[in-house]
Amino acid sequence: MVNYKDLGLVNTREMFAKAVDGGYAIPAFNFNNMEQLQAIIKACAETKSPVILQVSSGARKYANQTLLRYMAEGAVEYAKELGWEHPQICLHLDHGDTFELCKSCVDFGFSSVMIDGSSLPYEENIALTKRVVEYAHQFDVTVEAELGVLAGVEDDVVAEESHYTKPEEVIDFATRSGCDSLAISIGTSHGAYKFKPEQCTRDPQTGKLVPPPLAFDVLEEIEKKLPGFPIVLHGSSSVPQEYVDIINSHGGNLPDAVGIPEEQLRKAAKSAVCKINIDSDSRLAFTAAVRKVFVEKPGEFDPRKYCGPARDEMVKLYKHKIIEVLGSDGKAE
Ligand SMILES: [Zn+2]
Repeated sequence: MVNYKDLGLVNTREMFAKAVDGGYAIPAFNFNNMEQLQAIIKACAETKSPVILQVSSGARKYANQTLLRYMAEGAVEYAKELGWEHPQICLHLDHGDTFELCKSCVDFGFSSVMIDGSSLPYEENIALTKRVVEYAHQFDVTVEAELGVLAGVEDDVVAEESHYTKPEEVIDFATRSGCDSLAISIGTSHGAYKFKPEQCTRDPQTGKLVPPPLAFDVLEEIEKKLPGFPIVLHGSSSVPQEYVDIINSHGGNLPDAVGIPEEQLRKAAKSAVCKINIDSDSRLAFTAAVRKVFVEKPGEFDPRKYCGPARDEMVKLYKHKIIEVLGSDGKAE
């Protein structure tokens, strides 16, 4: 049994309370490897932004849960070395699907867990979430739940169609489950192909897809029902066209990849939304940078020579998100 407090990590409670009050959102970045973690910590240390490091089921399979946890512990020390005096770093389980998995993360030093019962019938979702909350709260670990279904593909989370969160259910759900934050579905989606071309319109000038807007009316209804309660948006990458273009012009093939426009996320960040999950955008930044090196320097075979530029590109991306989209810079001095 390891408590996250001994590792220098923090839970989400204070982060979210300040974010709701301050009208900004905390970045939740997924990490799977050293370069990605270095980039996240460097970007957050340089901007003094609180951050949630997310571990998905895919990351646990790819990088090993034990190793990832020790990396997060190392990240706190790395942040201090970079001159960030009081780093606010949360280690969070993304899309936990069983009580046992959430418990093992709590016991192992995670400061926050998500229990995703959104595919279950309503009452079962409440019961499962409540069970995780009762366990996690004994150790002051915060719990994110989900109500409503997001479309798209993210590691092991796959859904064909989205179902918006029903505002009339949120009070009952939050009260009875005891969750600390709630992921809702208002039209965001997992992956780099968030919408099918037939769901979008096309910009007549560029021929690029324009995605349908988020359901801000649903978000407003939810905010009215649960004033001040922390709301979470998953699947909120923007799929920057510059990266898609670099990938496609350097041997890649990502036709019609489309994300959530940043101005919509900016608007969401000012509302009760206080955690915004971004994963695909850093994958695109990484891949674009690597593909560029491979095409421009075909003789290069030292992984540091292409993972290094990929890391630099991710730092740029994370800082852009923090400063220009979420507004979380300067919130953790
Ligand atoms: Zn998600």
